[in-house]
Amino acid sequence: MSSLLLKNVNAVLADREAQGVSVVVRDGKIAAIGDFEPGLEAIDLSGATLLPGFIDVHIHGSAGIDVMDATPEQLAEVSDFLATQGVTGWLPTFVPAADADYARGVAAIENAAARESSGARVVGVHYEGPFVNSAQCGALHTEFFKTYAGVGDVDALPVPADLVRMTTLAPEIDGGVELVRELKSRGWIISIGHTRASLDVLDAALAAGARHMTHFMNAMAPLHHRAPGPIAWGLAHDDVTCDVIADGIHLDPFMLRLLLKVKGERGISLISDAIAAAGSGDGDYQIWGETISVKGRRTSNAAGSIAGSVITMLDAVRLLRSLDVSYVQLAQMASLNPARLLGLNPECGSIEIGKRADLVALDENGKVKLTLIGGNVASRA
Ligand SMILES: [Zn+2]
Repeated sequence: MSSLLLKNVNAVLADREAQGVSVVVRDGKIAAIGDFEPGLEAIDLSGATLLPGFIDVHIHGSAGIDVMDATPEQLAEVSDFLATQGVTGWLPTFVPAADADYARGVAAIENAAARESSGARVVGVHYEGPFVNSAQCGALHTEFFKTYAGVGDVDALPVPADLVRMTTLAPEIDGGVELVRELKSRGWIISIGHTRASLDVLDAALAAGARHMTHFMNAMAPLHHRAPGPIAWGLAHDDVTCDVIADGIHLDPFMLRLLLKVKGERGISLISDAIAAAGSGDGDYQIWGETISVKGRRTSNAAGSIAGSVITMLDAVRLLRSLDVSYVQLAQMASLNPARLLGLNPECGSIEIGKRADLVALDENGKVKLTLIGGNVASRA
């Protein structure tokens, strides 16, 4: 039985911060909070804030690696990089691509998830498209977009066995609402995005099982007072959650504040939407068969579209801290809400006795001091 004591931490619980406590980790899980148990192997985290590990449900790659053409070993490299950024679970995210690329990508995900890894857990797959609206394509390649004609179209999507499967779709495409119903019946998590859907179609998608929205406000019809569309609908529905790219570029920080005011921290998850260039600095990168330039943390493709971000969840957390968002709120937005979205919250997503010891300790400057994944030290500064 392996045990570890994290002592002198400010532990961010679901409803409050517990100052100067100890957290006992035993057999990969959180065994006690608050009790000092002498005799255990201890890590002194004085001055640090302990949060539940971040869960990124929308990420295309990092550290020079794109998940569409990554080997299992390269996925493990991304996992190791993410652990240094406080991420303990992630969903490799596919852009619309050829069937053979999907199949190879899913095989790599299955392989990576099954092997012993020191890094962030690969918990499943996120298909961004192919069932999305070409009028809101963003940087996605429209030649791979599809409409829905029947169950054969879902059968054609390879899925990793026993792992989370999520997709971003536009319910207004031909057969879109029926697609939501079919995916829901097969246990998929459905998120509305790359969309110009009307209120009627959005209501029908909600009734069919779509309860989340992808990179809210980006790649959707803009808010207009005479044409309420996806943004107005998402703001108005308390039973619909959304995720945001809090890099300060995809959304003006003022819009993040506004969104937080309207949806509250319960309604928002943070994502990175990072591309392979994340973690590599400015330059030109060959990604998705084109050149994507990164300059001052802004990405752009040849058409001038923003093409994902180069942030990590840690950067998003830091940006929101600078907007005076509390750690209790951030733990919800960066960990609990994504865990809930994926149905993983019984096992992770918050600092609670009995949950997996997926934890990140940040120092006073917001830098990662320690990341634990399943109770093992995955990164230590
Ligand atoms: Zn994306």
